[in-house]
Amino acid sequence: MAARTLVQAGFKNTVIYEARRRFGGCIDTDYKLAKGRPVERGPEFFHGRTGILHSLAQELDLTLIEAPSEGLHYSDKKLTAQNGLLSSTIDRLRSLARTLLQSGFPDMPVRDFLVRDDARTIIEETRVFTTHTIEQLFRNDFGAEPKKLGIAGIVETDVTGYDANFRVKEGYSELVRRAAEGLDIRLNTPIQSVDWTKRDTILLKSEKQNYAARKVIFALPHGVLKHGDVQVYPPFPDAKQEAIEAIGVGNACKIILLFKRAFWPKNMGFLSTELDTQLWWPALAEHNDDDQSALLTTFIGGRTVRRFEQPKKRSQVREMAADELRQMFPKGTVDEQILSESASSFWGSGRRFSRGAFSYLPAGCDPNAREKLREPIDDRIFFAGEATSTDGGVASVHGAARSGVRAAEEVMKNFR
Ligand SMILES: Cc1cc2nc3c(=O)[nH]c(=O)nc-3n(C[C@H](O)[C@H](O)[C@H](O)COP(=O)(O)OP(=O)(O)OC[C@H]3O[C@@H](n4cnc5c(N)ncnc54)[C@H](O)[C@@H]3O)c2cc1C
Repeated sequence: MAARTLVQAGFKNTVIYEARRRFGGCIDTDYKLAKGRPVERGPEFFHGRTGILHSLAQELDLTLIEAPSEGLHYSDKKLTAQNGLLSSTIDRLRSLARTLLQSGFPDMPVRDFLVRDDARTIIEETRVFTTHTIEQLFRNDFGAEPKKLGIAGIVETDVTGYDANFRVKEGYSELVRRAAEGLDIRLNTPIQSVDWTKRDTILLKSEKQNYAARKVIFALPHGVLKHGDVQVYPPFPDAKQEAIEAIGVGNACKIILLFKRAFWPKNMGFLSTELDTQLWWPALAEHNDDDQSALLTTFIGGRTVRRFEQPKKRSQVREMAADELRQMFPKGTVDEQILSESASSFWGSGRRFSRGAFSYLPAGCDPNAREKLREPIDDRIFFAGEATSTDGGVASVHGAARSGVRAAEEVMKNFR
């Protein structure tokens, strides 16, 4: 979005250096797995009913389809309809966390927060959820462990992720492809170092070549910045480096299973579970018709991901996920319908060009860390990406997109 905004404003000499052989970053639609139907290996939903992505999709003539909001919950060996209970419970907990912080309580780990009497009462009143399930759902939403994630972290986002979600019918990657038309993108160009010693030029070095620029926007994943994959000379000022270190990076994965037919209830927009797979949802109804095949996706966050990461073979990962479905649905139904095709995508720290799924605020983190992260340096180096969101868009595509527009505006303001 940063490059698109600059080029549209007349800054034609804008170049994107992209490490991967494809562009789009986390956005990665697979069109092969399910006979041309889009399967999202990365982000899948637009959260909320309005905003930058809705406007962009409209401009790019894409079709948005709202995901059903009714869900089922599995606990205590049974599936129950939950009619908004999950989102209202998370909302109540976030609201309690906000009140505590506003009345002067210090930030604390979510794990400590959830055992307070007032938080436990909220959970007990549901008669369905346990503290374990709520911890699983926070892992899922933030990719982080409840003992590390702070309550300031759970109140900073502007959406909980459970209400008003939309999918791009043509696939998320199609949005990126159309938005990037006409941009100068150099693929397969991982930047190794950025040298801003000289006053008038910034030197970027890749394995292949050096490039010179007057201004640079760092739109790297926070995990890549934190891991130090890009050397910076002279090093960033202390406040910037401290912000990079303070903000955490979560872990997440997606496992997608194919079935001959949908065997789950029609009203299952999503399925939350106390099991390790945490959260499931079916593909778009249009993409789940009976004469082709039906898809179920599980999205898992936090430490739990490691269990699913261990097997080396795709078939073993599929079996581990299928085993959890077998526990939740009547005997035999999963095995009658399951196909051998599946996909999975892991976003842990070992993945070279992402080094994690998305950012979060650990307990006790400097509350101004994100402002410090987004602050330009010397009117020449600017910062974008979800982790730089200070308007509630962290860990989301809309936040990353808004940050790109903001960084482009900062560049334009500073161009002489
Ligand atoms: C599995 C998963 C599901 C998600 N689901 C949703 C969802 O449904 N809805 C939602 O809103 N958000 C979702 N998110 C979060 C969302 O995808 C991210 O917050 C957002 O896409 C981050 O965008 P970004 O531009 O900050 O980073 P990225 O998309 O990671 O882009 C950074 C770019 O930098 C490139 N890069 C890395 N290193 C270098 C280098 N050395 N040189 C040059 N380029 C480099 C990368 O290749 C990448 O293209 C999900 C994330 C994951 C992992």
